[in-house]
Amino acid sequence: MDHSLLNGLRAIVGPDSLVTEPTARFAYESDGQMLERQMPDVVVLPRDTAEAAACMKLLHQANVPLVPRGAGTGLTGGATPVEGGALVGTARMRDVLEIDTRDRLARVQAGVVNVELTRCCAEHGLFYAPDPSSQAVCTIGGNVANNSGGPHCLKYGATTRHVLGLVVVTAEGEVLDLSSPDPDPDGYDLVGLFVGSEGMFGLATEITIRLCVEPPVVETLLAIFPTLDACCDSVSEIIASRLEPSAIEVMDKLTIEAVEASVFAAGYPKDAEAVCLLEFEGGEAEVAATVDDVLPILERHGRLEVRRARDSKERARLWAGRKGAFGAMGRIAPDLYVADAVAPRTRLREIVGIATEICAERGLLLSNVFHAGDGNLHPNISYDRRNRDEVEKVLEAGELIMRACLERGGSLTGEHGVGLEKREQMHNLFNAQDLEVMARVRCALDPALRMNPGKMIPLRRRMETRAGGLPRREESSA
Ligand SMILES: Cc1cc2nc3c(=O)[nH]c(=O)nc-3n(C[C@H](O)[C@H](O)[C@H](O)COP(=O)(O)OP(=O)(O)OC[C@H]3O[C@@H](n4cnc5c(N)ncnc54)[C@H](O)[C@@H]3O)c2cc1C
Repeated sequence: MDHSLLNGLRAIVGPDSLVTEPTARFAYESDGQMLERQMPDVVVLPRDTAEAAACMKLLHQANVPLVPRGAGTGLTGGATPVEGGALVGTARMRDVLEIDTRDRLARVQAGVVNVELTRCCAEHGLFYAPDPSSQAVCTIGGNVANNSGGPHCLKYGATTRHVLGLVVVTAEGEVLDLSSPDPDPDGYDLVGLFVGSEGMFGLATEITIRLCVEPPVVETLLAIFPTLDACCDSVSEIIASRLEPSAIEVMDKLTIEAVEASVFAAGYPKDAEAVCLLEFEGGEAEVAATVDDVLPILERHGRLEVRRARDSKERARLWAGRKGAFGAMGRIAPDLYVADAVAPRTRLREIVGIATEICAERGLLLSNVFHAGDGNLHPNISYDRRNRDEVEKVLEAGELIMRACLERGGSLTGEHGVGLEKREQMHNLFNAQDLEVMARVRCALDPALRMNPGKMIPLRRRMETRAGGLPRREESSA
């Protein structure tokens, strides 16, 4: 990379916040999906909006591609700098700028870790609701970019429901303040547009978010099932019965075994074929009534046992097992392909069955741990990325599972985003016109297509956009 550019960046952020050594840049060559890797040419770690804007202006003048990065826990290659260039990380933007208990909102820098925010609000009886299982590490900025979900998003909704305002630095280094005191601001909903844009519309530096009030009563149940099918069917019936637990999570036998053999051991029964973790929140009468309605459903589907967490310590232990499940799978194989599929909640058993068949036909080891209440499945395939043959099978299986979901009215991604992983599969869900509109929106915000290049928009569409601008509608062939 050009020395005068590096010197310019160094002058803005200081030598400690510019990573140029190859051994240090190595840590940034991928996110949690390590199938595609590429080292950035430089990593910049600004401390605030002004530093980020000054750096991004220089990078714009030098026409350098630029990739935002939070904690790098993404699972679709979203923060992987496939075209090299500069990676702008938010690791030094970790201040909680304001907690407003009266208006129940917080203003944070983008690099604040999800769980830290909830810790900061706990003394006020408030919390930040979207709780990805990676919440001990992932950043609010990454959550915004991926519109992340989590177990309790069944009740509270994914990140987009909680973002009230944003300060964004554009690809050209301009600062946009998209925050407004008005809960229903005039003009286009640019905050809504930015949430889920996967780092392609700019770098979020400050985020204003809604805080929720801690519920008076929380009840957590662990239902143990003799089969995964029975477990899925009970979830489908709970949803169809219009009951509203705040979380419904399912884990299968392989996951349970891995969790119980790990530091996340939660006391799940090792001989169970599946467990369902259910949580209920609200007033005492409301929680008791919902639990009373759910118990017979679990019974009808042949649950072997239902355990109740007696106190907050037991509840935390049950959740630690669930949230540590992906990590625990590391005991089984060096790599884990976490598919992020969505299916109608009436068809959970069917999709799980199809995924099982697809993997069995290819000799792949499948486990399941998922946000069942949302219909957001995670068929997880254990593999070894050094085995090219196995990698090919894993990718093929992943795509077939996704196609099966789409054919049954599901979607391409529940919460992890498109990134690199599902870029070409966008053709399976969207037609040429849909993709054209997406490409046009992207061009409006980043005409030079330098922000996080190579993600989300399928390659064919991208090449057409780069060569000679956007095609007219009738010419479009993506
Ligand atoms: C063990 C494990 C469990 C997980 N569980 C869940 C889960 O329950 N629910 C869920 O939704 N996800 C889950 N994930 C996926 C991941 O944690 C989320 O997508 C998370 O929001 C990513 O945050 P991050 O800070 O690590 O972002 P990164 O991985 O660094 O980046 C993710 C994307 O956001 C962009 N980005 C990052 N910061 C900014 C910013 N400030 N401005 C603009 N763009 C930015 C990047 O360019 C990239 O495209 C899990 C991952 C792991 C490893």
